[in-house]
Amino acid sequence: MQICKTIPALRQLLDGYRKEGKSIGLVPTMGALHSGHISLIEKANSANDLTVCSIYVNPTQFNNQDDFEMYPQTLEKDCEMLKPAGCDVVFAPSHNEMYPDGFHENLIQLNFGGIAEELEGKFRPGHFNGVGIVVTKLFNIVNPDKAYFGQKDLQQFLIISKLVKDFSFGIDLVCCAIVREEDGLAMSSRNSRLSQEERNEASLLFKVLSEAKEKLIFGEDVSVVGNEARQQIASNQFFKLEYFEIVDIKSLKPIHKINNLEDIALCVSAHLGKARLIDNMLVKTSKVGVN
Ligand code: AMP
Repeated sequence: MQICKTIPALRQLLDGYRKEGKSIGLVPTMGALHSGHISLIEKANSANDLTVCSIYVNPTQFNNQDDFEMYPQTLEKDCEMLKPAGCDVVFAPSHNEMYPDGFHENLIQLNFGGIAEELEGKFRPGHFNGVGIVVTKLFNIVNPDKAYFGQKDLQQFLIISKLVKDFSFGIDLVCCAIVREEDGLAMSSRNSRLSQEERNEASLLFKVLSEAKEKLIFGEDVSVVGNEARQQIASNQFFKLEYFEIVDIKSLKPIHKINNLEDIALCVSAHLGKARLIDNMLVKTSKVGVN
């Protein structure tokens, strides 16, 4: 496994492989890797000749400075996990490499339309602009055949799908299923911020999502199901609920009536101690190409 810290070094390395006709799969991450990330690497490894993992804590997608500063950086440990998973190349650039002119001013503005205004868009201003910029940079630097993202960040996947379509990137996107802890908590680099007491409560989001999904399948009223879910989270003293929404999977707008169970996603975000947790569940998994 090779580690590249600069764009020219990575380009030179990948050009060599490309000349040999090798296909390239890219897995963009912010590091502090866990089994969820590793599942993306394994998927990339099984479908491409070469797997590239980028590790970069991208400042332009953080709307909260504390969150950025607290973000764990564990490059050495990450590399130890990546190698046995079949990763061939790690791209771990510096801020200067990614944003030589700085990243606070004159940042290009991308407009993703209504899809970026729902859910996370209401609570993380500028977040998807930063995601769009860094992913565009990574696509241009790596020029992969396929790129792997997690359903854990469902809205991000839809935004990147739009980016690929609108900018005509010739890249196949693969959406990978959410990897969970035994009690259902979705794995996240931010889970390490939870105290033991908070960690014991953390699976509530999975429980609430699962119950709401069952109720929808059973035919219960959408607004009743949504309100019960919100109530369950809000009444837990450890959580500060941001949103629980039952949405259309394409527009991410809240739905009020079910026409087709396949068109529905349940999405939640809540603060628990120092961590902001997000999670989601599809009522039927066929739609986003989760595999
Ligand atoms: P991050 O390092 O948090 O930016 O995540 C990098 C990629 O891993 C994103 O595409 C995430 O959606 C994905 N990911 C994060 N957590 C999980 C998880 N628990 N299961 C599957 N994929 C995940």
